[in-house]
Amino acid sequence: MRWSATLYGGPLIALAIVLPAHHGAPSLLAQQHPSTTIGALETIQIRPNVYVVFGAGANVTVHVGDDGLILVDSGSSDTSKALLKAVTSISNRPIRLIINTGADADHVGGNDAIARAGVPLTPDPFTLEPQATILAHENVLRRMSAPTGRPSPFPPTAWPTETFTSQFKSLYVNDDAVQVIRQTGAHSDSDVMVLFRKADVVVTGDIIDLRHFPVIDRTRGGGIQRELDALNRLLKELIVPNLPNVLKPGGTLVVPGHGYVSDYGEVVEYRDMLTVITDIIRNMIEKGMTVDQVKAADPARGYRGRYGAGTGPWTTEMFVEAVYQSLKESTP
Ligand SMILES: [Zn+2]
Repeated sequence: MRWSATLYGGPLIALAIVLPAHHGAPSLLAQQHPSTTIGALETIQIRPNVYVVFGAGANVTVHVGDDGLILVDSGSSDTSKALLKAVTSISNRPIRLIINTGADADHVGGNDAIARAGVPLTPDPFTLEPQATILAHENVLRRMSAPTGRPSPFPPTAWPTETFTSQFKSLYVNDDAVQVIRQTGAHSDSDVMVLFRKADVVVTGDIIDLRHFPVIDRTRGGGIQRELDALNRLLKELIVPNLPNVLKPGGTLVVPGHGYVSDYGEVVEYRDMLTVITDIIRNMIEKGMTVDQVKAADPARGYRGRYGAGTGPWTTEMFVEAVYQSLKESTP
């Protein structure tokens, strides 16, 4: 019965199990797995054929196999040279595919430089300048290009070469089943998660951002309900915990958009935190409180220590306001 309490979300029990291993400490993985540092970028091997590069904007996941390299996200443009160095030092096989989890500049900024160093998944002999395939949700292309007559924020060589709008985009590459899963409307309108089924690694993009409270980008189509849906889907459908043998290391590995590589317990903690704060804010809205009153009441108080930020691009105040506005919008 102990297991089911953790599995189905008894928050207190889950926290009690998770906190000692994760709270504030650097990833256990970082200590256990081989790590290489090139310049400012650190690369950690998390599976025999999967690596994560830190320090180039968003986390960049690299999957290696006979077909070549698959990257999930490409970091920022100003670190693209360093990232290319880090990636080619993992393996000298060709870069074949970049999957973008969203359209933010720190996730797509390296598309141009990285793709140009690669070759497409399906080479076309008539292309003069072949580049790696870039796959993303259609909204990523919309965000990266621009309506006719206006300058686009990114050069065409950085744009996705293949887009989709369906629930899944499935590929069989590097002898692994790769599922790109649409999860739009959580962090933004462009979110996807990537599941490497054989390697048992799921990459979440900014649906999970362990630096602070999740960024609900309301100006770009993000919303709290879909953010919660995404976290619950991860826990119910995509991540397998190391149960029942808790003492044996294992389970699905989770690469967040930012922060250390995690597992089921960390995502339970993140989901519970968000559920609690959302419930508190919903309650305050039902009492008729204004956004300023809600902010003053500090509904995120219990989690400020772990996820709060007083300054920087995503403060606790901004998070509380985004949840408030998002709930207001969905309540008739
Ligand atoms: Zn990000």
